[in-house]
Amino acid sequence: MQDFINDTLIAETLARAENPDRERVREIIEKSKELKGLSPHEVAVLLQTEDKDLIAEILGTARTVKREIYGNRLVLFAPLYISNYCSNNCLYCGFRVDNKELERRALTMEEIADEVRTLEREGHKRLLMLCGENHKRSSLEYFIEAIETAYATTTEHGGEIRRINVEIAPQSVEDFRRLKAAKIGTYVLFQETYHHATYKEMHPSGPKADFLWRLTAQDRAMQGGIDDVGIGALFGLYDYKYEVLGMIYHALHLDSTYGVGPHTISVPRLEPAFNAPAAITPPHPVSDDDFKKLVAVIRLAVPYTGMILSTREPAALRSEIFDLGISQISAGSRTNPGGYKQGDSDAFRAAQFNLGDTRTLDEVIYDITTHGHIPSFCTACYRLGRVGEDFMDMAKPGLIQKFCRTNAILTFKEYLKDYASEQTRVAGEDLIERLLKETSDKKTKRMIESRLKKIEEGQHDLYI
Ligand code: SAM
Ligand code: SF4
Repeated sequence: MQDFINDTLIAETLARAENPDRERVREIIEKSKELKGLSPHEVAVLLQTEDKDLIAEILGTARTVKREIYGNRLVLFAPLYISNYCSNNCLYCGFRVDNKELERRALTMEEIADEVRTLEREGHKRLLMLCGENHKRSSLEYFIEAIETAYATTTEHGGEIRRINVEIAPQSVEDFRRLKAAKIGTYVLFQETYHHATYKEMHPSGPKADFLWRLTAQDRAMQGGIDDVGIGALFGLYDYKYEVLGMIYHALHLDSTYGVGPHTISVPRLEPAFNAPAAITPPHPVSDDDFKKLVAVIRLAVPYTGMILSTREPAALRSEIFDLGISQISAGSRTNPGGYKQGDSDAFRAAQFNLGDTRTLDEVIYDITTHGHIPSFCTACYRLGRVGEDFMDMAKPGLIQKFCRTNAILTFKEYLKDYASEQTRVAGEDLIERLLKETSDKKTKRMIESRLKKIEEGQHDLYI
């Protein structure tokens, strides 16, 4: 496969867009309101905008676009780290092979089931399963067995995992087929940096040193039958403007080759990690203001691509960024294998990186509910086959909103009934009541009410 990331082209695109004039920036902001996306050059112009008033307009438009396409829903998930054995040496990661002080652990299937039970008892329905890259202690066979274990582990109140997204090292087409057969949702992989020289410097050894093998992982995943893929860059390794353009070129490549772009874009920022030099002193730190700008620009550039924000970011900043275009968030996370059952004790010595938001799922839900977001545990699209191109075909005319809003309300109700604290339950019931009042279509309103009643009577997993 060809390398579709051209460093010179990206650098030139950014150079040409420097000091943009106000009219040009406003024209691009106007164009973004048509929800048809932006070209790499237009994205570069927005990224190069430093004028405070214009940046405020970019953020304001991103808020509007987010509301228009995604409404005020936030889909929740938990990462599940099953093994921290890794033969790569990524200079920013606590799991890197040269970190001899890390407490290494590959969970047994019983331990994985324990983690899953803990997450289910908090109310989680969606997981992102991860591990290091090591053919002995984090092999694909082991990983697939872990997926099967997690799907098979159930608890009281209809506790079950309904979707497992996966973030593991790049695979061959054949091995992606095996992951597909294990019923994974989205395959997520971060390129870390799209800048070749920085990539080489940050990944000195191990299979991950091969830039092209990683860059083309999503291609092989799609060729192996996986409908939804996610991309991302690790912000802080290189110039953030360059990385955003790298992701835009990646999205364009997938769109033009497979007729559908990435399902999600993740925007992780470097966090301190145990014995990881590049995480302790990030080479290109991204300020909070630049971070907000880049999230807003991505929202305008690829309006129909979901955007994921993890618990790497602190709580207060997360709240601000949600409105700028985020559609999925993690909550109550641990990055050390076994961390959910074990709690906080000595997590740092086994964790991949430090967390910025350490609140529980219930605390996060209370917070977002009181800020007017609808927490959602919906997994309907993937289970009904509304994935890949079909999902995009429905998302674009806004149809998805209709399903998503209803499913968000139903899955939120299930959470409130089975898992919420009293404070969250009261705030949540209040929100659902308001949402019902705002539902103008009488038939939809009746349908939601009758399903809410069924959930109240003890039914689970209702969706449309
Ligand atoms: N080992 C696989 C890989 O590298 O793709 C699986 C995913 S790895 C467990 C998850 C992601 O965590 C990496 O892709 C990287 O972007 C991110 N990560 C690693 N160290 C980090 C740090 N110090 N701060 C924030 N994110 C980090
Ligand atoms: Fe291993 Fe992934 Fe960490 Fe790199 S980022 S050391 S590949 S776990």
